[in-house]
Amino acid sequence: MPTHCSILVIGSGNAGFSAALSAAQAGASNILLIDKCPAAWAGGNSFFTAGAFRTAHGGLADLLPLVNNVDDETARAIDLDPYTEDDFSADLKRVTNGRSNEELGKALVRESRAAVEWLKRDAGVRFQLSFNRQAYQVAGRWKFWGGLHLKTQDGGKGLIADHMAAARRHGVAVRFDTAAKSILRDPSTGAVCGVLVESDGKEEVITCTAVIMAAGGFEANPQLRTQYLGPGWDLAHVRGTPYNTGELLASCIAQLHARPAGNWSGCHSVAWDANAPPDSGNREVSNEYTKSGYPLGIMVNCHGERFVDEGVDFRNYTYAKFGRAILQQPDGVAWQVWDSKGAALLRGEEYREEVVERITARSIEELAEKCAQGGLSGRQRFVQTLEEYNAAVYQHRKENPDVQFDPAVKDGLSTQSSSSALSLPKSNWALSIDVPPFLAVKVTCGITFTFGGLAVKPETAAVINQTGREIEGLYAVGEMMGGLFYGNYPGGSGLTSGAVFGRRAGRAAARLVAKQSEGEGTVVRAKI
Ligand SMILES: Cc1cc2nc3c(=O)[nH]c(=O)nc-3n(C[C@H](O)[C@H](O)[C@H](O)COP(=O)(O)OP(=O)(O)OC[C@H]3O[C@@H](n4cnc5c(N)ncnc54)[C@H](O)[C@@H]3O)c2cc1C
Repeated sequence: MPTHCSILVIGSGNAGFSAALSAAQAGASNILLIDKCPAAWAGGNSFFTAGAFRTAHGGLADLLPLVNNVDDETARAIDLDPYTEDDFSADLKRVTNGRSNEELGKALVRESRAAVEWLKRDAGVRFQLSFNRQAYQVAGRWKFWGGLHLKTQDGGKGLIADHMAAARRHGVAVRFDTAAKSILRDPSTGAVCGVLVESDGKEEVITCTAVIMAAGGFEANPQLRTQYLGPGWDLAHVRGTPYNTGELLASCIAQLHARPAGNWSGCHSVAWDANAPPDSGNREVSNEYTKSGYPLGIMVNCHGERFVDEGVDFRNYTYAKFGRAILQQPDGVAWQVWDSKGAALLRGEEYREEVVERITARSIEELAEKCAQGGLSGRQRFVQTLEEYNAAVYQHRKENPDVQFDPAVKDGLSTQSSSSALSLPKSNWALSIDVPPFLAVKVTCGITFTFGGLAVKPETAAVINQTGREIEGLYAVGEMMGGLFYGNYPGGSGLTSGAVFGRRAGRAAARLVAKQSEGEGTVVRAKI
């Protein structure tokens, strides 16, 4: 293990690798990337992703040069509208209730397209159009919806493989089993001068000029979850890496007086297979435990009551907050329910027999009976809920015979008509649930990542302290950076954020190193 490097990057996820690559391209050498996980867990949460990157773009023609899975004939059968910077900004603003930091949001949106192109060109990341997750085939045409059109080949697994190959090509050294415990500063200048790490049970110091922290949030730490997110969050299932436990965040706040920023009581959490392991994701099954087919059906809690408008918006804008809604239900569980029409449209990736326990029945009563064996206490209410729901759907259909079901747009097929309205509407895609066989799947809350992080300077991702000053040589990116997401999140923005701000931080750190080696720096390295 080298005891000195120019730039130390902490975290082997998308943000860390993006930062390391950017620093190398900006001329820095002797870059070391460490991660506390063993090599077998490389890639953090980024490994578990679907590899979905949200980016502003000018429509299909603009995206085709970036992707490797569309031939000419397929391209002619695709409807994919531009997703402009204004669209992206509006979505970010809308889902965060206007709370997202304006400068961070602007950078994310404006550099999203360039960052993806950079990853393709310089990191060799293989992008594809996301046919299976973000498009429906309607009348022989692929209709893309929801503003999220790019994914990486082989999802997060492919993304991390490509990042690791790029790091090797650019001479970035990578060490696993090495946990950052605290950031060291020169007491005379306040600038960063090293990191105390623990490896193989022993502590040691790695000296450096700059540290880029990309060590994730605190989603895998039940104690911090309960402390910041609230009671009950210790019971959420962890969707990704078990190594994002937040101790570096805590140490920066306690020891460096780094300023916390963003939504510390908020997180990204989804409907997740209730039978999945609780404390960490599974690197084989990975993202397939996610259960995001609720817009095609309904969700009920163990009393048999609905509790969200399943069709209030596209899945991309609701899935990140419905985990919390499920956790708030009795026992923190729910059942997603469809009939054969809705079930036929579910993605096999998440709902095939091998990946989830499918509860099937020929009647609603039988379905209730079977769900009761898994904890549904309100059998009668379950049946009644479905009857009321179907009655409202029929009435809406009767009054609006021209409204057609279309999963690729907000179709307005709802439960609310002039003569019949549910107290909790289903606003779009309200298919009746009346054609057997019926299907139910039991879900719980899966936590993805936490929104609270550190305040940074948007231009460089440099960490800001409690007095509003930059901590020289210290940067925070990815989940560790606070201020972008509040309460909810536009799907695919996490990876884009890691690339945009990782890229900025890498450049800034390389500039600092260059400045120092030219002898122009104001930082004097401490003798440790
Ligand atoms: C199942 C799942 C699916 C997702 N799908 C998507 C998607 O499709 N698109 C999207 O944009 N986002 C998605 N996300 C969210 C996305 O994973 C994150 O927004 C993003 O990957 C975070 O990247 P990161 O580099 O900040 O953190 P990570 O990728 O989590 O990397 C952090 C790394 O830091 C290491 N670490 C932690 N503490 C220390 C320490 N003290 N010392 C050294 N190392 C440390 C960890 O071991 C980890 O490897 C998904 C998340 C999950 C869990």
